Amino acid sequence: MKRFRLSLMGLTLLLSVSGYAQTAITSTDTLAAQVMMGNFNPTAYAATTVIDDPAIISAGVQALVSSDSLHAYLDVLRSFQTRNTGSDTMSADRGIGAARRWVFSKFQQFSAENDNRLISSYLQFDQLICGMERHRNVFAVLPGADTSDKSVTIIEAHMDSRCAGLCDTGCIAEGMEDNGSGTALVLELARVMSRYTYKRTLVFVTTTSEEQGLNGATAFAKYADDNNIKIRGVLNNDVIGGVTCGHTSSPPSCPGFKDIDSTQVRLFSYGGFNSFHKGLCRYIKLEYKEMIRPTATVPMDITIMTAEDRTGRGGDHIPFRQKGFTAMRFTAANESGDANVSSGTYADRQHTSSDSLGIDTDMDGTLDEYYVDFNYLARNTVINANAAAMMAVGPRTPDFTLTSSLGNLNITLITETGYPAYRVGVRTTTNDWDTVYTVTGGPDFSIPVDNGNHIVSVASVDANGIESLFSKELQANVNGIDEVLAKKEQQPLQLMQNKPNPADEATMISVLVNGQVAYKRAYVSIKDMSGKEVKRMDISLNMGMNEIVYEHGYNATGQFVYTLVVDGAAVASKTMVFAN
Ligand SMILES: [Zn+2]
Repeated sequence: MKRFRLSLMGLTLLLSVSGYAQTAITSTDTLAAQVMMGNFNPTAYAATTVIDDPAIISAGVQALVSSDSLHAYLDVLRSFQTRNTGSDTMSADRGIGAARRWVFSKFQQFSAENDNRLISSYLQFDQLICGMERHRNVFAVLPGADTSDKSVTIIEAHMDSRCAGLCDTGCIAEGMEDNGSGTALVLELARVMSRYTYKRTLVFVTTTSEEQGLNGATAFAKYADDNNIKIRGVLNNDVIGGVTCGHTSSPPSCPGFKDIDSTQVRLFSYGGFNSFHKGLCRYIKLEYKEMIRPTATVPMDITIMTAEDRTGRGGDHIPFRQKGFTAMRFTAANESGDANVSSGTYADRQHTSSDSLGIDTDMDGTLDEYYVDFNYLARNTVINANAAAMMAVGPRTPDFTLTSSLGNLNITLITETGYPAYRVGVRTTTNDWDTVYTVTGGPDFSIPVDNGNHIVSVASVDANGIESLFSKELQANVNGIDEVLAKKEQQPLQLMQNKPNPADEATMISVLVNGQVAYKRAYVSIKDMSGKEVKRMDISLNMGMNEIVYEHGYNATGQFVYTLVVDGAAVASKTMVFAN
């Protein structure tokens, strides 16, 4: 991952390694491009044996994703010594050129094994990065069986690697955790998922030049936007195979040096209330929890993070989100380092030559202690596969209206009213749902809930029992009998309880605006319990929900008070807790 928050010197350095202009973005295979745009005849790509039952696909990917396959891909990836964006493109066995040709050849191999249904291509673009003009992402397209909504689901990872020097093409940069792990995951999914038939098109992507500024993903997102490719969602995988904490790690992260966590994965995404990115994270978790976890040998915990990425860091999901596409990032719970290689005291593996597959402790010539946990990587691969498959086979998302009455949320569907069932996700204090209700009939549903503010979204469920992606979110206050009788006048400004609370490192502070507010300046002031202001953040007061993310930093605990101040007057205060 690239570090954001660059010093002025860092910024100058970054500008000198990559010019901003990207030109001549093109798919080297026209067919691959046309399929992504939805211009194709699905019967031309039909499998000899069609397997499209979601339960069979889910069980199939769980059984077929192999830690040995993942290990084998990583062994080949490290043999290229470096995958720096500016490294050799001519050599047959060293550098980014050899690596991307090998990834391309694997996609072709998996296609040959599956009725030639997978179309491999490069997404080529021109941009001056590390002294090199032309760059290539590698991708493969698995055409869907139904072109009615033309949407595509992308599973991606950056394949480029680095050591301390951003453009050092001479150093050994095997980049195993960052991001051989994600590259292997994408390859394994192309292999396993190509056996099955999905309604919608799947695209497997490995990008270049993430490390110099998310350049490969930026080119892909721009290409999709320019060509009206309807991206349903992007699952970005970056640093997804390691399980051990380094000395440093970008917050929120590791509990401490050498801590091991092989049963948790973090999902990062942008936004809070009504964020489709967070909605996608909740969907990924729900599909795993209900379809895979009950029968998993080692069940995984999925944590939906508040921030778009670790503090000061970024990844390939961001350019897609910036172009308006729904996108999120998978990252291991524990990381070896915060990549601050210039600090002088940096002793971790990330962004150094030490980001290798492991060590040979007894010096017998073979690795015997691994930095990548292949079983952990396989479990994360299955989570991706199951979510992407359900996104590609599921029904259409409904729209709805929401009101409240005494003790109830009242939902009315306004589109997609013909499905056999619906799921209603209700959340209150965290990034995740408290409860996901299953309802039938409709289009009107009432759900009894406790008093308080509830945030609601809705999904369709088809005859196979598979959910669509969830709708937009709406919020409603459910009041008890006293409040209803008192007919309390609605406040024009409501300072909401922060989410999540308690928080680990970052939290979302929201103000609900119920009517037009005239103001010059509004901000949220955060004070510790001694009354000392630790932060002041401006907030807009537009109709509806207005949000700001407060990053408190890791390893600082305690209680704080936040106050909404409008034109110098304190409007309301609430207490929040940081627990890590
Ligand atoms: Zn990375």
